Amino acid sequence: MHAVPARGGHPPPMSARRLSNAQVAARLERLAALLEIDGANPFRVRAYRQAAETVAAHPEALADLRARGADLTELKGIGTDLAAALIALFDTGEIPALAEVTGRVPVGLLDVMRVPGVGPKRAATLWRELGVASLDDLERVARAGRVAALAGFGEKTQGKVLAGVAQVRRHRGRVGLGDAEAALAPLLAAVRAADGVERVEVAGSLRRGRATVGDVDLLAVAESPVAAMAALRGHSDVAEVLASGDTKTSVRLEGDLQVDLRVVPAGAFGAAWQYFTGSKAHNVVLRQRAIDRGLRLSEYGLFRGDEGGRDDPERGERVAGADEAGVYRALGLAWVPPELREDRGEVAAAAAGRLPRLLELADVRGDLHLHTTWSDGTASIRTMRAAGAARGYAYLAVTDHSQALRMTGGLDAAKLARQWAELDEVDAEDADRGGGEPLPTVLRGLEVDILKDGGLDLDDDWLARLDLVIVSVHGHLDLPQARQTERLLGALQHPEVNVLAHPTGRLLGGREGIAVDLDAVFEAAAAHGVAVECNASPHRLDLGDVELMRAAAAGCRVVVSTDAHAVAGLGDMRYGVTTARRAWLGPEQVVNAWPLDRVRSFLAKR
Ligand SMILES: [Zn+2]
Ligand SMILES: [Zn+2]
Repeated sequence: MHAVPARGGHPPPMSARRLSNAQVAARLERLAALLEIDGANPFRVRAYRQAAETVAAHPEALADLRARGADLTELKGIGTDLAAALIALFDTGEIPALAEVTGRVPVGLLDVMRVPGVGPKRAATLWRELGVASLDDLERVARAGRVAALAGFGEKTQGKVLAGVAQVRRHRGRVGLGDAEAALAPLLAAVRAADGVERVEVAGSLRRGRATVGDVDLLAVAESPVAAMAALRGHSDVAEVLASGDTKTSVRLEGDLQVDLRVVPAGAFGAAWQYFTGSKAHNVVLRQRAIDRGLRLSEYGLFRGDEGGRDDPERGERVAGADEAGVYRALGLAWVPPELREDRGEVAAAAAGRLPRLLELADVRGDLHLHTTWSDGTASIRTMRAAGAARGYAYLAVTDHSQALRMTGGLDAAKLARQWAELDEVDAEDADRGGGEPLPTVLRGLEVDILKDGGLDLDDDWLARLDLVIVSVHGHLDLPQARQTERLLGALQHPEVNVLAHPTGRLLGGREGIAVDLDAVFEAAAAHGVAVECNASPHRLDLGDVELMRAAAAGCRVVVSTDAHAVAGLGDMRYGVTTARRAWLGPEQVVNAWPLDRVRSFLAKR
């Protein structure tokens, strides 16, 4: 295989391309945000936001509805004005109101608004009073101490703003694992369906299951690359074609994700897949191992000798390359699961035949953290249990919020008693049902807030009656490290506590975790028989892989839980499993991979 330089692509103009609903919704969102900064009528702002939601959730592409001449005002929340704006967008590629507001309000303020604590009102103040039009501007005026001097800001806010700017920069251009998968699915399907395409696989950090990905690498084997490249380039979710040639096409999607597609010969597919999966650090170790064996490893294959042109990457005898496992085998290694390829000792383990048996989705027997309509979930206990049954679970724990989270409808003792009356009914129905597939056992749990002083948000006698006590922090996230650590340690030593949920409180792309001495927390959790959670929501993935490794090394058990607030949320389990795999965890360390009786004795701390 010889690399061919990518040629400049010639995408059709935006207006001629069929916009996807996601693209339309993104423009409406942007319009709403800019109008909000501009101080527009709040009803107008809300109308655009609601329209964005309607469009995003509509099963059929609005562009097709428009092409058919359908009446767009029949959609919920789309009045005559909005319909006219959408028609203009489909016909000209532009929404007039958006063009008008971007002529007045700097688009860089959209980044400024992403800084935690800076909403539209503060962004508007920063812009009007200090001329802030971008993240760089904001950083400059904050460093100069000018933000603190603004009415309603102050020193403390200025410090938070500076930390927030750094955070937004770090996350810019990175997309969460779940969003990346969702964005990629239609493109992958389109390329797979293209003429003459034999195989398409995902490589890169998405295959390794990293919590966020910067870009997505696709590898294909195809009779001719032309159709595969065209399928990607021409897809309606593509916002911009960055480059397109015979062997590689790069596009940028709405929402900033970059996707690279390479077509490689079948005989080199395994080597290319290995190479483009990375990580770079893992590949450095493999290449050195090849050199030590008198071999040469590259994306083209594993070669011995130098016969052929010096500059030919395929010179010499090809030892391996068609399949990935063959490449590892020829290097004297067991195949390394992609989640482990981070240069954390996996090559030495593969050489010694000591790679761990990693957790698999099929090992998961239940979900120990979920919410129902009793607090802020959208589905009833019965609905969630049926959904758990459909996933083949043996047990589920209902763990609604405690009373401190008032806005979620959190449960005090009286409301908990009413929930248990319903759980009694559910159990009785099950006993009456007789035969048929058994439904998952429902454990009685609660997600109890850890109060500011480390106390728990429920009386001890009620805590003692629960099957499962999850503790977590949702407020006072900005305590200094010593106090935050003390707070968590206080909760962990309570004899009824079973699980510490989302221990750092991080939100990917949104909020850094709390300042806390995690090693002290892990040591206490292990000593008190408290499991730490790998929260599987792709917006959290908390603990993350590195922290999970530290927790496991400290002797902690782990629960992988979805924290589902709706039926669909139960499906996030796979992201938690991926994260646990990246932490080298197997079913023995993960409580919800155990049978119910073993789970019960762990919860009883016997
Ligand atoms: Zn929570
Ligand atoms: Zn929760």
